[in-house]
Amino acid sequence: MENLAVNGKGHLTFNKIDTVLLARDFGTPLYVMDELTMRKECRDFKESIAKYYGGHGITAYASKAFCCVQMCRLIAEEGLGLDVSSIGEIHTALRAGCNPRKIYFHGNFKTDEEFAYALDNKVGRIEVDNLDELERLNVVACEKNVTADIMLRVKPGVDAHTHSFIKTGKNDSKFGFIIENGEALETVKKALEYENISLKTINCHIGSQIFDTEPFVHTAGIMLDFLAQIKAELGYEVPELNLGGGFGIKYVDGQEPMDVGECIESVSLRVKAKCAELGLAQPYIILEPGRKIVGDKGLTLYTVGCVKEIPDGDPKVIVDGGMTDNPRYALYQAEYEAIVANKADKPKDTIVSLCGRTCESGDMLGEKMPLQSAEAGDILAVLATGAYNYSMSSNYNRMMKPAVVFVNRNRATVVVKRETLDDLIRNDVV
Ligand SMILES: *Cc1c(COP(=O)(O)O)cnc(C)c1O
Repeated sequence: MENLAVNGKGHLTFNKIDTVLLARDFGTPLYVMDELTMRKECRDFKESIAKYYGGHGITAYASKAFCCVQMCRLIAEEGLGLDVSSIGEIHTALRAGCNPRKIYFHGNFKTDEEFAYALDNKVGRIEVDNLDELERLNVVACEKNVTADIMLRVKPGVDAHTHSFIKTGKNDSKFGFIIENGEALETVKKALEYENISLKTINCHIGSQIFDTEPFVHTAGIMLDFLAQIKAELGYEVPELNLGGGFGIKYVDGQEPMDVGECIESVSLRVKAKCAELGLAQPYIILEPGRKIVGDKGLTLYTVGCVKEIPDGDPKVIVDGGMTDNPRYALYQAEYEAIVANKADKPKDTIVSLCGRTCESGDMLGEKMPLQSAEAGDILAVLATGAYNYSMSSNYNRMMKPAVVFVNRNRATVVVKRETLDDLIRNDVV
């Protein structure tokens, strides 16, 4: 993570602010996000598309990674588009003042109510994931006497993590239509016949936490072959190509994310070459990073409740949060790095299990984690928690969701308030 340092007191600082003081002032658990580096990342994407692809494209931040009004506002201020996957995310984006034309509405099951809401609010693109959605969206658009501008989700059959084009491998995904067996082409044909549907984009998303450029370049080639096939067989040139997100970040040592600029340069080169070869006009490109914009721009602060010695096992460091604010270890053993914030100048001389406080043995933030010797009352920082933490948090055990603060130069601003006891019973009928 950028902007981490240790001050004269041996405390961990984030963007020059003492994290121990943040914990004292705002309480724990606390999500802290660095506004400066988030903005820098947004500009990196935007400037790279300008530099390598003549600005003929847009970066749409995948808001599911971290969504709140202030985050959507930051994205709008940086001139990015927004990727949403529910009426709730659209509502948040509109409340933040995002341009609805730059909103891309994803998901493999959107209700008629959501279609209507998206159309009423002039959401830029609505993804069609399956035939049922194509038919339902056409009906809703017809009732409103409007045209729905759609993106059609396809499965390019790429396994981003093995670099291979696996013939059927990724065709078992629950998202989208298969290119390989003609299902996608058949759907394009149908979409072109529907009165109230206008096909603007073919889109895909090949995975997450991808560290190399090659899967993106490879996928761009497959997608352009598909656009050429559509042109050849149906006489229609699809104007936009959405290559999805999945740009990886570093959570622990040994992970080496690619450079965004280099990736966009390579993809642009492939797209231009392929278009020349296939006689296609260069499509408008959409990229949808989520994790990359926010993941390594945030950390979570906890207070250590106790350290429990375990016979023949690693000591258990128990903190005042856990799977309720970060379910990713419980879900899929996601790895994190932790630091005792008030002992950040000390060596990590212990190996611990980091445990949450809810009534689940699986409530953990990590195992076999190197850590400074911790004791009750210490402030503990878990790094790179900006993506898929707050957005995946829950109220299990009626835990109150933590506050989120943005830090920017010497200022810390609450962007999401800590939940209160009354928030917990807000919808309870009493
Ligand atoms: C989740 C998702 C993204 C963002 O993924 P990251 O790994 O966070 O970059 C982008 N597009 C679609 C369609 C997604 O489902």
